[in-house]
Amino acid sequence: MPPPESCKQQLKICIDAEHAKCSICLNIWHNVVTVAPCLHNFCNGCFSEWLRRSQEKQSTVLCPQCRAAVHFVGRNHFLQSIEEDILQADSSLKRSDEEITLLDSYASIKSNLVIQSGKKRARTNDVESGEEHMEFPCLQCGTEFSGFRCSEHMIHLQCQACGGMMPSRTDINVPQHCLGCDRAFCSAYWHAQGVHRSNSQMVCGNENFKPVSQHTISQIPFLAHEMNRHEQDITARCIRQMGKTLQDIVSDWISKLNNGEIDRTRMPLNHAEMITAGTHVCNDCYDKLVSFLLYWFRVSLPRHFLPADAINREDCWYGYACRTQHHNEAHARKRNHVCRPTRVSYQ
Ligand SMILES: [Zn+2]
Ligand SMILES: [Zn+2]
Ligand SMILES: [Zn+2]
Ligand SMILES: [Zn+2]
Ligand SMILES: [Zn+2]
Ligand SMILES: [Zn+2]
Repeated sequence: MPPPESCKQQLKICIDAEHAKCSICLNIWHNVVTVAPCLHNFCNGCFSEWLRRSQEKQSTVLCPQCRAAVHFVGRNHFLQSIEEDILQADSSLKRSDEEITLLDSYASIKSNLVIQSGKKRARTNDVESGEEHMEFPCLQCGTEFSGFRCSEHMIHLQCQACGGMMPSRTDINVPQHCLGCDRAFCSAYWHAQGVHRSNSQMVCGNENFKPVSQHTISQIPFLAHEMNRHEQDITARCIRQMGKTLQDIVSDWISKLNNGEIDRTRMPLNHAEMITAGTHVCNDCYDKLVSFLLYWFRVSLPRHFLPADAINREDCWYGYACRTQHHNEAHARKRNHVCRPTRVSYQ
């Protein structure tokens, strides 16, 4: 691997590319996933296809490499960066674009999946004991809702907000993942199944996961303007001066976003190009989205709308990327940091 000169703190490690190969397709992993408890690694597409076939046969999911029962599979972001480094160092290991497109079309693992082990689950008449629910708190494993009950080998997603399980469904069109972070959230799913929080503690209300347009906001997010409190304060005063609320401004900018009027290059969300007012997102991603929109609100605001003490500040050369703004109060006050960098440097 070429030494990363710009970042001296980076650790150099030697890896035998043989150890970074998928035992299903025998290539370097692509979009690598790790299964547990054996911790073997595969391409997302290869393992997804294996999983689909195991499910079709209604059989226990076994690790394709060691045949141990698989209880869990998840994306492995650390190994993914290693996979990318290896391919950069030796491009002869790269697959063709056609192969990658085909592999990606099989890939179905978006977040962590919990896979039922082969051992018999409690049958409906054992459910009263409560043991099954303690071990595996998915409401649909024991009871039919909306004409659906989990099959014996159902794959489950664990909700990031409440820790409860829900079946991973590809047969219906209900959001089970936040498009901004790819984490699983259960509220939209259970709502669509007609299950509400009163039925179980392991079901979220909609406060954690809802369409962008249904979130509300009353305070500027902590993350806004690169966490620069002076800029946050200026934004808050601008909005007040205009006789509007933060919610008014955010709603305006969400409709601009919806109309495709905003450059999304810096939007800090995973599927930035797919986000609309109707997209389900989690609270963290909503805060990131609002912070992104407030940047655009500020950079497109005519100067005379700024509070008096902010009108005559010059732009910092390093713009939003300035590091000095975080440890030098005087500098943060003196220069505007809600602007593009005009100089790139390692401060
Ligand atoms: Zn593979
Ligand atoms: Zn294994
Ligand atoms: Zn279930
Ligand atoms: Zn939940
Ligand atoms: Zn999210
Ligand atoms: Zn600066």
